[in-house]
Amino acid sequence: MTTIDNNQIYEVAIVGAGPAGATCAYYLAEKGIDVLLIDKEIFPRRKICGDAITVRAQHHLERMGVLQEVLEEKKGHWAAKGGIVGPSGIHYFGDSTNVDAEHLVIAIKRQIMDEKIVRAAEEAGIKLIENYFVKDVQFSSEKKYWTLRAKDESKQPLKAKVLIVADGAASRIARSLELVAGPPQATCSSVYIKAGTHEFQQDGVCYYPPKLVPGYCALFKEADGDLVYCCYIIPGGEAKKSDLRELHHEFLENYSFIRDALGPNAEIEKMKAAPIRFGGIPKSYGDHLLIIGDAAGQIDPLTGEGIQYALDAAEIAAETIALGKEKNNYSEQILKNYQKNWMKSFGKDFKWSSRMVKVFANNPIFVDAFASVCKRKGDKFMREWGKIMTGSKRKLSFFLPRLAFPLLFEVLKLIFRKE
Ligand SMILES: Cc1cc2nc3c(=O)[nH]c(=O)nc-3n(C[C@H](O)[C@H](O)[C@H](O)COP(=O)(O)OP(=O)(O)OC[C@H]3O[C@@H](n4cnc5c(N)ncnc54)[C@H](O)[C@@H]3O)c2cc1C
Repeated sequence: MTTIDNNQIYEVAIVGAGPAGATCAYYLAEKGIDVLLIDKEIFPRRKICGDAITVRAQHHLERMGVLQEVLEEKKGHWAAKGGIVGPSGIHYFGDSTNVDAEHLVIAIKRQIMDEKIVRAAEEAGIKLIENYFVKDVQFSSEKKYWTLRAKDESKQPLKAKVLIVADGAASRIARSLELVAGPPQATCSSVYIKAGTHEFQQDGVCYYPPKLVPGYCALFKEADGDLVYCCYIIPGGEAKKSDLRELHHEFLENYSFIRDALGPNAEIEKMKAAPIRFGGIPKSYGDHLLIIGDAAGQIDPLTGEGIQYALDAAEIAAETIALGKEKNNYSEQILKNYQKNWMKSFGKDFKWSSRMVKVFANNPIFVDAFASVCKRKGDKFMREWGKIMTGSKRKLSFFLPRLAFPLLFEVLKLIFRKE
């Protein structure tokens, strides 16, 4: 049990012990910086997700020793077999390991992964405070520290020189500081389907029913044999955020590719949903302040994936704080390096993702063309597509002649065939 000295002014307080906050805490502790990691929940806690952990995130998990533990305990399932179903039903299922030994995705239940990251951070030396809902934060520019107050007034306030906001997509704290404006743009549902009750033969498949494009549905197999099903509503197409409940069930019950893959006896839990803030915010720093992960909208607009960016941002934030500590200066002037560096690392790519969203929304035939070229060219092409979609390669690569020419050619072929 952590003992906290309420009079102490900690170097850093992080609000939110999800992947962004806990990973940042880990990297800060590794640099010898004292950190208070605060969450309103008690770990392990459920976080609804598609549980698809992509390559960049896998590398961070490996550095924290989390991936090794997950594999030893057989709690992760590598996605080898899988594919894509286009809006008109053109589909390709392959095996990406025929091309390369590195898997692009491992499915790990968030309840397991998030707790392991928190424990890794604790082992590295951070102080964890659970069951502490931060209601209000205030910075004293005279004393140069933050005071954090809990919703439960019987709990003592906490103090720290630097505040890192990692409270997820709703970004309540960042919104109160006026650094995040408006509600999250997208939404996504998630349910588990019980092991032994379904007939899914793949490890992971993305489905693009016409009504949903540029959004999509995904099914991934977990280590315990459960499936996770998600339905992502991404703005730009026909589907609106308010349609989520109806579409989530419609695709499970009436969309033949998913219905048949699950079989007649699938035991599906009750739908849960959460918001998605994507594209990155224009200013994620202030005096003695950084915003990381979903709170800063660090989610890919094309895929709704955010874990890898949350972890990349966590490391960049820790490096920036270390620089501030070295210079004994946590002013906005120093901390703006964080924004510059995450934009360079992945933020600029979000603009290309947004362009792809528009292409998909206005011309769903492009998604069919992907599936169709995969059919012709096989696993190698599917892997290229997968690498770009999962962030291992920049989205700009979609526009390279090697990919763009076969795609455009396929689009023309499909149009010609239709006519
Ligand atoms: C349905 C769905 C499916 C998704 N699927 C995928 C996927 O397959 N792959 C992928 O890469 N990404 C996926 N994402 C995105 C991914 O979940 C996020 O990018 C990731 O959770 C970001 O981590 P985070 O730490 O920023 O935020 P969170 O994981 O949301 O963590 C925030 C933490 O802050 C705590 N908190 C909030 N407010 C307070 C407060 N006031 N006081 C104290 N604590 C507080 C919360 O309890 C929580 O633990 C999905 C998102 C959704 C909604």
